[in-house]
Amino acid sequence: MASTSMARNWAELPPELLQLCSQRLCPKNLSAFRAVCRSWQSAAVKEWSDVPWLMLTDENGMPQREFFCLSCQQVHKKLLPEVMANGYFSSRGWVLTTSRDGEFHMLKNPMSRYSHIIKLPNWNKFPNIEDLPFFDVDFIRKFVLSDSPTTSPEYKVMVIYDNGQLGLWKPGEEEWTAVNSPTDERIYDVIYYKGSFVAVDFENRILRCDVDGPTPFEAQVVFQVPRRLQEFEHEYPPGSLWYVNEVCLVQSTTGSLLFVSLEEHVASTITFQFLVLEIDLDTQMYTAVENLENTSLFLGHNSSFSLEVDEDHLIKPNCIYFTYVRLSSSQFFEDGGDTGMGIYHLKDGTVELHVEGKSSPLLWIEPCF
Ligand SMILES: [Zn+2]
Repeated sequence: MASTSMARNWAELPPELLQLCSQRLCPKNLSAFRAVCRSWQSAAVKEWSDVPWLMLTDENGMPQREFFCLSCQQVHKKLLPEVMANGYFSSRGWVLTTSRDGEFHMLKNPMSRYSHIIKLPNWNKFPNIEDLPFFDVDFIRKFVLSDSPTTSPEYKVMVIYDNGQLGLWKPGEEEWTAVNSPTDERIYDVIYYKGSFVAVDFENRILRCDVDGPTPFEAQVVFQVPRRLQEFEHEYPPGSLWYVNEVCLVQSTTGSLLFVSLEEHVASTITFQFLVLEIDLDTQMYTAVENLENTSLFLGHNSSFSLEVDEDHLIKPNCIYFTYVRLSSSQFFEDGGDTGMGIYHLKDGTVELHVEGKSSPLLWIEPCF
């Protein structure tokens, strides 16, 4: 008798109160909340998220994926039989999967209840494919969407493929098109920035490809980051070695173009340091950024993004949330070395190593639903 009345009471909680409770939940717990009963379902807020998800190492051959949730600081599991793949990348809340036989699919935020899958042309639809090595999981290095396909049918997909070339695809096309670079240098990173794709090469040149302009398959050099800035002139302890682990471009929340260099100290303990430059392409000036104020950057195997600190302080301010694959250990471990996620604090250069992975790079998934 008591349990029946208690059950009725839970179902009869005021909708305003239920809605307030549901607002505090991450997408995973929100879907559990909706499943309790009809009145909870109708009172719950719509599916939403304002913090990124971290996709963890896949378990080989398993249709289950693990996600670290910044909202509740827990690992959630989700069955995703449609993403049995060997390589993963993310951009604007979408995940690009690459399979061992060279097929590519885009999947809308895997934590969303609504599944959208878009098939892209296979690897053998890249130009001059006969000159490329046989397909392997490292064929694609980066994946960038200009817009979300669910909101903008005119979206474009840019990838870095074959160890450093840019490849473009638009909906309706059956093949990928190579984007020519005026230099022969390999491309390190690319983002979609103010209507164009903007890339950085291994010589720290910034290139722009205006995909809606008269020459959509030609990139132009628009800035040269001085090479010496790549090095940390006064922070080297004598005799130590630092490697450039990653170079990223990011659009700040105020619209600036940021160049970020991640260096790794080769030692038994994991040590990282960052250099952040704000680049003004109009004036051709750059400045070192020492404070990101109330924003933080998310970098890694995903396309990079910046977010403002949220009211609930789930995201720490003035930090760089980064995923890494250790260069120094990958020489020694057959599985590719240590992977993980760290939080770098710009104010004092300290790093919190937050989540450890296994052999595959971890992946930030932007909160777009
Ligand atoms: Zn959660």
